[in-house]
Amino acid sequence: MNLNTSFTQLENFGHSLKASSYRVRIRTTEDIYEAFQLAKKLGLKVTARGTGISYNDASLNGGGIVLDMTGMNQFLEWDPASGVVRCEPGVTLEQLWQCVEPYGWWPPVVSGTMRTTLGGCLAANIHGKNNFQVGPIGEHVTEFTAMTPTGAVITCSPKKNADLFYSMISGLGMLGIFTSITVKMKRIHSGLISVDAHPVSNLNRHLNDLLEHAPDCDYIVGWLDTFVRGQHLGRGQIHAARSLKAGEDPNAEQTMQLAYQHLPDRLFGIMPKSLLHYLMRPFVNNLGWKAVNAAKYVSAQRKHTFRQSHAEFHFLLDYVPDWERSAGRSGLIQYQSFLPKETAEAAWREIIELSIQRGCPSYLGVTKRHRPDKFLLTHGVDGFSLALDYKVTDGNRKALSAMLQEFDRIVLEAGGRFYFAKNSETSAESARRFLGDETIEKFRTLKKRCDPNNLLESDLYRRLFK
Ligand SMILES: Cc1cc2nc3c(=O)[nH]c(=O)nc-3n(C[C@H](O)[C@H](O)[C@H](O)COP(=O)(O)OP(=O)(O)OC[C@H]3O[C@@H](n4cnc5c(N)ncnc54)[C@H](O)[C@@H]3O)c2cc1C
Repeated sequence: MNLNTSFTQLENFGHSLKASSYRVRIRTTEDIYEAFQLAKKLGLKVTARGTGISYNDASLNGGGIVLDMTGMNQFLEWDPASGVVRCEPGVTLEQLWQCVEPYGWWPPVVSGTMRTTLGGCLAANIHGKNNFQVGPIGEHVTEFTAMTPTGAVITCSPKKNADLFYSMISGLGMLGIFTSITVKMKRIHSGLISVDAHPVSNLNRHLNDLLEHAPDCDYIVGWLDTFVRGQHLGRGQIHAARSLKAGEDPNAEQTMQLAYQHLPDRLFGIMPKSLLHYLMRPFVNNLGWKAVNAAKYVSAQRKHTFRQSHAEFHFLLDYVPDWERSAGRSGLIQYQSFLPKETAEAAWREIIELSIQRGCPSYLGVTKRHRPDKFLLTHGVDGFSLALDYKVTDGNRKALSAMLQEFDRIVLEAGGRFYFAKNSETSAESARRFLGDETIEKFRTLKKRCDPNNLLESDLYRRLFK
């Protein structure tokens, strides 16, 4: 065996969780096979890891083997005529858009950061700001290959091994390891996107606007001020965006060049953005962030339309590298819930009120419009999602965890769902309640078939499914 292995401490994106593991750097499918043999010999569990930036324990595996998939990152085929790309799972969204964009294509679904790998995106079945129009990324995958712990390499598509197609995508790497992925890109006619921004004065208006504007645009996303209670709770700003049609951008050839898309790496041309998170730190407390939210709401009052590059629109969160470090030593947690359109307002009103009452407000609130999908461990609903970021401190860790579990109860009673790449406090019982016994049983049956010795396990799997 010739595996590149080291024992190391790994973290989640928010630096709120840590786990020490044997990290094996994977370059080929044979490496995955060898890692499985090693795990069997040593009696260890195995978890795949892309960039490792899930907000929770999805790619952590305390005491076990973590397959670092970032080195398996080659493009295998790219057809600029059809927009179909086949690549290895460690290819990041950044590599992907930079490969296809100059030819007039864009990834059909992207996360709020371009650092994620395609393997990680499929395993979580990510959604974008266009979820209500085009579904999650899995709906754009035409085929993938994966190695199961038995050593078998299987090919799956919506027609071939369809049960595995719809369960490995969303399956959190617990049924097999993706080895190649084929995705169809979305045609674009400009490097720019047209964005309408308008303010909303409360949660009712906020959710109604998401609902009403969504059919007329390609992407929609809302920001809400998480420090306001009472009649203005849920006030914020909506960004509704549409791709430009052929001919709408007279400089399309230039705007589709990569140079036009890059996020600048210096603020005001001077200050390296990599240092910005240090400057943000003194403001990341209840008082400072309340002021930031209020100032943002004031600045959001102007209703206007502007054009932005695709990279700027989609990857706003990459603008300040390592911004999550501004939360300080104990890190941050993101709590994202998905609620039907009929029950969302009352449930989120209760959640936001409770956060403020407990002295533990969220610092950032982001809403999206969603639709259901047919993947096995789906988080899709005909409704909305609200993602809330919470700063963790040594003092609030326990109370925060208890509060997030109370939120789970509110969400479940309102018929909601959770997304397994985000929440870190959701229990096995809560997962069973929203997925249902039948889905969990189906998942277990498929797991037995793909992984008869239960080799694939992560900290998340042990928290939710054991
Ligand atoms: C700033 C930020 C913004 C985000 N915005 C969004 C968003 O808008 N929409 C959204 O849906 N998500 C979003 N996310 C979540 C993110 O897209 C997912 O957590 C994604 O899975 C992370 O990709 P990764 O490569 O880091 O995967 P990891 O975190 O390393 O792994 C995630 C899961 O994928 C599995 N996995 C990884 N590689 C493979 C493989 N080759 N085969 C099988 N399983 C594998 C892991 O075992 C794990 O279960 C965001 C995250 C951040 C940090």
